[in-house]
Amino acid sequence: MTKIIDGKKISIEIKEEIRLEVEKIIKNGKRAPGLAVIIVGENPASKVYVNSKVKTCNALGIYSEKYILDSEISEIDLLELVEKLNNKDEIDGILVQLPLPKHIDEDKVIEAIKPNKDVDGFHPINLGKLVIGKDGFKSCTPYGIMELLKRYEIDLNGKDVVIVGRSNIVGKPLSIMLTNENATVTLCHSRTKKLSEKTLNADIVIVAIGKEKFLTKDMVKDGSIVIDVGINRNKLGKLCGDVDYENVSKKTSFITPVPGGVGPMTIGMLMKNTVKSRMEKI
Ligand code: NAP
Repeated sequence: MTKIIDGKKISIEIKEEIRLEVEKIIKNGKRAPGLAVIIVGENPASKVYVNSKVKTCNALGIYSEKYILDSEISEIDLLELVEKLNNKDEIDGILVQLPLPKHIDEDKVIEAIKPNKDVDGFHPINLGKLVIGKDGFKSCTPYGIMELLKRYEIDLNGKDVVIVGRSNIVGKPLSIMLTNENATVTLCHSRTKKLSEKTLNADIVIVAIGKEKFLTKDMVKDGSIVIDVGINRNKLGKLCGDVDYENVSKKTSFITPVPGGVGPMTIGMLMKNTVKSRMEKI
């Protein structure tokens, strides 16, 4: 029978560890870690994400500042705010909620964040550090997946891992993290030929593409481990991932559900990065 990887449970454990860490920092007479969250425009999904980040900060004793900016804000004004926060002592982490409106260059904004406050791990300096195996901030979603694998004691040494989806925020950084842990990684995308042959041979399949029921049971081998990163809404408006969970889970040894798998981990890792940033200054 497959074992369900319970991201909800693990994320609660991580958040409790962080809360205790923050408590210790404050007991030692130091200021609490601080996170600034910037949102531009009225995207409802982004608003939900930002509010839940602020709520989590409050619950863990992390100081937070929320900036809700008009969708018409100029790129220069946004960059100015980022610069102000770069220089603000109380702020250890800066997060700009993506996507940004079309008139703003996302890369420019990401690159304007000081690498030592880039708790989202999207800055080229942090991605570069990841590639050469140096300590930096890791992107939260792939970092969360690595943490899940670690806490479920899944050995990555020499394992064949297939990742489907090569985005800069999930697939690519995850491929490096897994390689750094001695897995052999095949990174697939929409131009990959004979995808099923690849997934069928994999010990671990990780899907991050955003298509409901994309990974079917004929695409995985018996006993494999499946990690579902996708967040979709099905016809009934219910949250679902990229994996045909009901059927694929009959063949796997471990599997993440959606919701309750990878999703809850992302915010936990953001908090972990914020505390890491604070600790580096103590
Ligand atoms: P993205 O930027 O939209 O990229 C999608 C990737 O999937 C691309 O690399 C694309 O290939 C590939 N792809 C699309 N159709 C494919 C197909 N038929 N066969 C093989 N590859 C295909 O993706 P993302 O931002 O990483 O998000 C992916 C999913 O993860 C979404 O559902 C998103 O909501 C979810 N997500 C979840 C979290 C979380 O916290 N749980 C965080 C981030 C994202 P090409 O590069 O060739 O176009």
